[in-house]
Amino acid sequence: MVRMATRRQLCEKWEGSDVCPNIVKRVQYLCNELRTCLTYLSGQGELEIVDGKSNLPLSLNQHTCKCNPWQLTGIPCKHFWVLFYTQDLIL
Ligand SMILES: [Zn+2]
Repeated sequence: MVRMATRRQLCEKWEGSDVCPNIVKRVQYLCNELRTCLTYLSGQGELEIVDGKSNLPLSLNQHTCKCNPWQLTGIPCKHFWVLFYTQDLIL
């Protein structure tokens, strides 16, 4: 109970967002990492991401990417965030 109360007090100090600052930092870091990615649409909600020499299938329907952090942490990997920042979706 003490641990939860301490965490709640810390959360009340967050400014400007209801999202944990560590998560915000992580998403910002991931967004900086996505500059090398190309996105190819391969089906309804299915994409292929080319990140350097890697081809990674990403499924928006199943919330999965072959690189695995999304499945392990629940936080979408950088390959998901590339969809919001790229205008170069190749059909
Ligand atoms: Zn990924």
